[in-house]
Amino acid sequence: MIFGMTFTLGRSVEGRAIDAYAFPGPAKHTVLMLGGFHGDEPKSVFLARRWIDLLRADRAASDGARWVVVPLVNPDGYAKRKRRNAHQVDINRNFPTRNWTRTSRRSRMYGGPSPASEPETEAVMRVVKRYRPSRIVTIHSIGDDRYCNNYDGPGRALALAMRRHNRYPVTASIGYATPGSFGAWAGVEHNIATVTLELPLRHSPKRCWEDNLQALLCAASWP
Ligand SMILES: [Zn+2]
Repeated sequence: MIFGMTFTLGRSVEGRAIDAYAFPGPAKHTVLMLGGFHGDEPKSVFLARRWIDLLRADRAASDGARWVVVPLVNPDGYAKRKRRNAHQVDINRNFPTRNWTRTSRRSRMYGGPSPASEPETEAVMRVVKRYRPSRIVTIHSIGDDRYCNNYDGPGRALALAMRRHNRYPVTASIGYATPGSFGAWAGVEHNIATVTLELPLRHSPKRCWEDNLQALLCAASWP
């Protein structure tokens, strides 16, 4: 049974659609899932798309929550398998946080000419403001065995619940400063329980999906 509603949140620098998939429920919680912030982390898109397939096929999987899924935040970067968007901006450093910092355009973590300068950033801010999720899982991938359930704001309890299933460490910091990150904006400054799920780069998409299916469900079932 298909009960999802798809709509376009906005368009990328090069005009690609940034789509959201909203799944209604009794609204115990609204959970937002985001993938593809970084175009060179395709596993994050794979997991978010699998999640959409699951919600479409099995209503019970939503566990009484309203789910909103944006599987591909940065479609221009994804098309080229590049981290940043078509303006060479790292979307995950472009949010209008108090700690947003001007950085070199040559940096792979370039935060843009000004906070929220990019249409991809605006699209993400729009979906948060429209749906007011109470918890957010934003999916990335990372190398050197630094995979983790990284939390911001009131996200620690959710990160701990997810760890019981995926066995990834729980961290408050990724090991380096992330000014202008989505986690700082949504978690710290908007007080939404936010977990940045960093998948192990070396594991296959299939393995990541199997290891995280129950962990992702936690975002809905966690009290
Ligand atoms: Zn990333």
